Amino acid sequence: MKKQAILVSACLLGVCCRYDGASKPDSKITALREKFVLIPICPEVDGGLPTPRTPSERVGDRVLMKDGKDVTDNFRVGAEAALERARSFGCAAAVLKARSPSCGSGSSYDGSFSGRLTDRDGVTAELLKKNGITVYTEEEIDNFLEQMT
Ligand code: SF4
Repeated sequence: MKKQAILVSACLLGVCCRYDGASKPDSKITALREKFVLIPICPEVDGGLPTPRTPSERVGDRVLMKDGKDVTDNFRVGAEAALERARSFGCAAAVLKARSPSCGSGSSYDGSFSGRLTDRDGVTAELLKKNGITVYTEEEIDNFLEQMT
């Protein structure tokens, strides 16, 4: 049977694309290769930001770096690139890094750069959901497997 394609945050697959130049490899996510075609995305890099980079958070309708630089357009471009990739590979679901200002689903940092969370999605997760793609975090992998297999 043909494997379904899903979007996955590249940092969860071991790509060193996080703001601090590190990755967040997760063996449960990597193991999804056995059942799915994994399409890696990193919306912040795809939006033109370098690695490493100053961390960003959603602040109202903008996205700002900790030093105040407005990176809203970078985040938007990266989100649109993710949606485009989802469409071209026919992805109905995504497994994205929890709490990221791009990839977070159902929770992200609140714009105060103090570690506090809100129930707001990251920019990419929000756009994917608006376009009918179901987004899970790596912490919801059991739920993902239950729904998708
Ligand atoms: Fe990982 Fe997403 Fe952040 Fe890229 S934007 S480093 S994929 S959480």
